[in-house]
Amino acid sequence: MEAILRFSVLSSGSSGNATYLEAGGRGLLVDAGFSCRRLRGLLGRIGREIIGVSAVLLTHGHADHTCGVRSLLREREVPVYAAPGVAEDVKGAALVGAGEALDLGGVSATFFEVPHDAPTYGVRLSDGERVSALATDLGEMGPGPLRFLRGADAVVLEANHDPDWLRRGPYSADLKRRVASARGHLSNEQAAEAACALAPHGLKDLVLAHLSETNNSPARACGTARKALKMAGHTGVRVRAAMAKHPTTWIEVGEPIESREYVYRYGEAGVQLFDLLE
Ligand SMILES: [Zn+2]
Ligand SMILES: [Zn+2]
Repeated sequence: MEAILRFSVLSSGSSGNATYLEAGGRGLLVDAGFSCRRLRGLLGRIGREIIGVSAVLLTHGHADHTCGVRSLLREREVPVYAAPGVAEDVKGAALVGAGEALDLGGVSATFFEVPHDAPTYGVRLSDGERVSALATDLGEMGPGPLRFLRGADAVVLEANHDPDWLRRGPYSADLKRRVASARGHLSNEQAAEAACALAPHGLKDLVLAHLSETNNSPARACGTARKALKMAGHTGVRVRAAMAKHPTTWIEVGEPIESREYVYRYGEAGVQLFDLLE
């Protein structure tokens, strides 16, 4: 298999999270918020199998990111890596320090801290040439996380909610406060602002992730980011939204931008998929 860094966000949101990343035929899973059976189904939709998973990286201990680890390990003995405050709670997980480059055979992975209501980390992955980075489940984008996201060709970034929809939505006052807090979840506006900060540093693909099914929509999240990027004069970023239970198409990290057309792909069962947007 050619040495290319590529990934698909298999599913994203509070119902479960998993991203499959591949370099030189080696597969990595970032988060395992699904049972092995469901993971197999999601991988099948991008033409891959469980046997391809050679390591698992965990961003934090919340169930929507880790509940499938035990079922996966029963099926396949793969190393699981996590950073301090996360690794201790997952049986058999190897501890990796934040900011420490972990060599996974052709890909190096670095955890970096993000603010959330549990010890939580983003991940920066590089094959030495191309870089992708993931940060979901973060209350705000400070200079710390931004430093690790900067320079990435492809970024998976949380765009959890529209602040107005959250405010007027059905959540309890407590939950609304938690979600909107600096240790909660990133809003569309916060994600858009971060995208504008990353755009001048080589960002080509932005995948908005961990969208709330109650307080957001793919159109809303993508629209907010695209509008902000356009207003700031950054026209060369492909913006997509990752969905729950619908894997994104393969995203080849560092792929040059050719088309300037917006292409919307409409998925099955009336679900609007945003696969190719630029
Ligand atoms: Zn989550
Ligand atoms: Zn979380």
